[in-house]
Parts: sequence; C-alpha cells; structure tokens
Amino acid sequence: MANIIDGKAISAAIRAEIKESTEAFAKEYGFRPGLAVIIVGEDPASQVYVRNKRRACEEVGFYSEAYELPAETTQEELNALVDKLNASDKIHGILCQLPLPKHLDENEVIMRIDPKKDVDAFHPTNVGKIMIGDYSFLPCTPAGVMALLERSGIEISGKECVVVGRSNIVGKPQAMLLLHSHGTVTVCHSRTKNLAEVCRRADILVAAIGKADFFTADMIKEGAVVIDVGMNRRADGKLTGDVDFESVAPKASYITPVPGGVGPMTITMLMQNTLTAAKQSV
Ligand code: NDP
Repeated sequence: MANIIDGKAISAAIRAEIKESTEAFAKEYGFRPGLAVIIVGEDPASQVYVRNKRRACEEVGFYSEAYELPAETTQEELNALVDKLNASDKIHGILCQLPLPKHLDENEVIMRIDPKKDVDAFHPTNVGKIMIGDYSFLPCTPAGVMALLERSGIEISGKECVVVGRSNIVGKPQAMLLLHSHGTVTVCHSRTKNLAEVCRRADILVAAIGKADFFTADMIKEGAVVIDVGMNRRADGKLTGDVDFESVAPKASYITPVPGGVGPMTITMLMQNTLTAAKQSV
C-alpha cells in the first residue's frame, strides 16, 4: 500500500512557517502583507474559494480585502478596481477569481494586474519568467505539487515525469517546474495516443484532466508516485480526484488523496506568493 501524502498536514506546516515570517516582516516594516480578492457574480464554488482565501489570510496574519461585485459589473468598473488595487500601498497581491461572467474579458483583467502583484502568476510576464526558471511567483497549484514532493522526500532529478493535462494554470507550468527540477518530462493531453502506455512509464505521474477516477491501476507503474490534481464532484456531491484511488493506491509508492492532497496546498501557495510580493515591495 502506498504512503499517503497528507496535504492537510503539509499545508498546515507551511502556513505556520508563513505566519512566523509574516510576524517577523510586520515587526521589521510596520505593515502586513495584503491580499485583495475580487469575485464577480454569484458562482457558489467561487464563493467558497473566496471565503477560504479570506480565512487563510487571517490564519497567517495578512491584511485582506474582498470585493464581491454584482454579475452585471462592467469591464470598465472591473478595470478601475484593478487600477485602484495596483496603486494601493496596502495590497501586495491581487487575485481575480475565475471564471468571470461571459461578458467580461478574463485576459484583459490578467493583463491589467501589475505583474508585481500577480500572485496567481497568470500574467505573461510571470509566465515567461517561469519558462526561464527565474520566477517571482510560482503558479499556486503546480507549486503546491512541488512542495508535496519535496516535503515527502521524493527525488525528481532524472525521474520519468508524466503530466496529463496541458492547461495554462496546471499542466503547462507543472511540466516546467518538474523540468527545472531535472525531471524527464512528458506532457499528455486529449490527443495523446496510447495514454495508458505513456503513463506506465512514469516514476512520477501528475493527473490533471478533470475526469473522475479516470486513472486506473493498469495505467500505473509498480512503485510510481501518483499526484492527483483533479477535483470532480460525483453525483452524490462527494469530491473525487482523477485517479481511481482504491485500485491505484496498492500499486503506488506514494499517492495524494482527494480531498486532502493537492487541494489544501493551492491556497497555501497563494499565501506564500503574497508574502513574497510584500517582501519584494520593500
Ligand atoms: P482544463 O479543463 O483547463 O484542462 C484539462 C486538460 O486535460 C486539457 O489539457 C485536456 O486536453 C486534458 N484532458 C481532458 N480529457 C483528457 C483525456 N481523456 N485524456 C488525456 N487528457 C485529457 O482543466 P484544469 O487544468 O484547469 O484542471 C484540471 C483538474 O484539476 C480539474 O479537475 C480541476 O478541477 C483541478 N484543479 C484543481 C486545483 C486544486 O487546487 N487542487 C486547482 C486547479 C485545477 P486538451 O488540452 O487536449 O483539451
């Protein structure tokens, strides 16, 4: 049976470290790292994320501002808020919760956030920095995966790493971070031929496709490390990953559960990025 990577425990340990650094920072500079979270409309999942982010800010001792805007907010109004936050001395990180209502242009918002306050690392300036390995901010979910691997003592250098999923927020930056850690990286997607065969080569498999229980034991090498980024809702409302945990766990050497694996790490990495942004502002 695999070792279960406890994302909740690792996340709590990192948050305790962030809190300690925050207190030291506040003592030295007389202000606290500040995060602004913008949400437009009433998507229930987004509202939960925003609430969790606010709670995480309190936990680590940050200053935070939350902007809950009505669904009919115009692009001009949203842009004006981003401009105001870009100029604010109290705010070091700005996060606009996606997806936005259809009439708003997500890309315009991403481009408008000052790259120095872009704690999601979505701005092309930060994406480019990730590519060359000279980054200010690590994209939160892939950074969470890297922290889980590191704190579980899993070596990446020279390992066959297979990332399934090529989105801009998970798959692509994940592949880059594994590459910077000297993994031999393969990226798969919906057009990949012989997916099971490619996955069976993986010493480290990162599953990020958004399909419940898709990865079964026959796709996994004996002793592989299996990281499940997927977050899918079953018909009964339960959260489940992309990996069929029951069949895969006996075969893997390490595995992340869902919930309680990668999920708790994402917001923790957002806190880490906000602390970094505050440090870079002084
Ligand atoms: P996207 O929908 O943006 O991307 C999904 C990717 O998976 C695409 O690249 C797609 O390929 C690929 N894909 C879909 N079906 C298959 C298949 N059958 N075989 C191979 N590849 C496939 O999703 P995200 O990257 O945003 O998220 C992925 C998952 O991670 C979701 O479950 C999401 O909820 C979760 N997530 C979890 C987070 C956390 O904090 N734990 C944070 C962010 C996301 P193609 O490009 O060819 O279409």
